[in-house]
Amino acid sequence: MKKIQMVDLQGQYQHIKETVDASIKEVLDSSTYINGPLVHEFQADLEKYLNVKHVIPCANGTDALQIAMMGLNLEQGDEVITADFTFAATVEVIGLLKLTPVLVDVEIDSFNMDIEALKRAITSKTKAIVPVHLFGQCANMEAILEIAKEHNLFVIEDNAQAIGADYTFSNGTKMKAGTIGNVGTTSFFPSKNLGCYGDGGAIFTNDDALAHTLRGIVNHGMYTRYYHDVVGVNSRLDSIQAGVLKAKLPFLDAYCEARRTAAKFYNEAFSTNEHIITPKSSSCGDICDTCNCHVFHQYTLRITNGKRDELHKHLLAKNIPNAIYYPVPLHKQKAYVDDRYNEKDFPVTNLLIEEVISLPMHTELDNEQLAYITETILDFIS
Ligand SMILES: *Cc1c(COP(=O)(O)O)cnc(C)c1O
Repeated sequence: MKKIQMVDLQGQYQHIKETVDASIKEVLDSSTYINGPLVHEFQADLEKYLNVKHVIPCANGTDALQIAMMGLNLEQGDEVITADFTFAATVEVIGLLKLTPVLVDVEIDSFNMDIEALKRAITSKTKAIVPVHLFGQCANMEAILEIAKEHNLFVIEDNAQAIGADYTFSNGTKMKAGTIGNVGTTSFFPSKNLGCYGDGGAIFTNDDALAHTLRGIVNHGMYTRYYHDVVGVNSRLDSIQAGVLKAKLPFLDAYCEARRTAAKFYNEAFSTNEHIITPKSSSCGDICDTCNCHVFHQYTLRITNGKRDELHKHLLAKNIPNAIYYPVPLHKQKAYVDDRYNEKDFPVTNLLIEEVISLPMHTELDNEQLAYITETILDFIS
């Protein structure tokens, strides 16, 4: 059996080596390392793939969030609501910009922002909602858009984990995750579903004026060369990374499918074990080809018999990598603790951090590996 990895970037590269190498060589031959033609080509390809008017490439997914918030002219003291159960980047940039983060609890089955908790958190100071499509599963965008409209709030989708996912509205309309709110952001960190070979990120919007503003902010606040109209940042996707991404984008749908296939294997294996709860996958509750909501950036189980930590160690001893995403809720992180929070408001996040465990999930898992992983888990949790 091939050695099992949490993410197999080497195996994936071997399948696309020729295309990726040719793309990188094109950059080397042209020596246009910054703002080269491949950056613009990748941008256009991604706009087409996502069916969005504007993609603004930038240096990483954290910058993408920060720049999106800068572009919306949010001001010190404005409240920005996001989920308590996510990677810290989301709340980090809110703090950096001196906005006020407001963390809310998540849903037990989707791990995404709880709509009732969101409603309770809205005050007269609230300016924006940042839903995170956690682990590759879209947040309840239909409800979030309705609430945003009612209270006149911006919606910034943190789509770092769900690029390629389709969100289906109740009337059947489909949109790509990240293109639904006022603005969406993503990360091309190597292990993300569309990863480059270094750091990279992008911002998406259908708003022409906002896109113009964002293009200036990523480039030192310049709209005309050497005329700086606003305080900006230096945040660029370099040409080599754009070359890698342009080569990989045509494979994204197949990569999502490979992840869903592995997830189906896991789901079926665990379906009858009463202590293992498999991830909810779409609005219809299954890995459904018509909803296609989940792109399984992570495959995350809940272990409900109290043995999650033992399982974590047992699997490592059996050479099965696994991870606890995330071990501490953001409202308990030293950097983000605040008197405003009340433990009673976070029952779900507090439970999830005790129960969740993420299994190997990538595009190269084979059935022999999946059988070994599932059998090892089922032997231990019976
Ligand atoms: C990875 C990630 C980010 C940050 O992306 P970087 O490119 O690493 O800066 C932001 N939000 C979420 C939810 C992420 O998973």
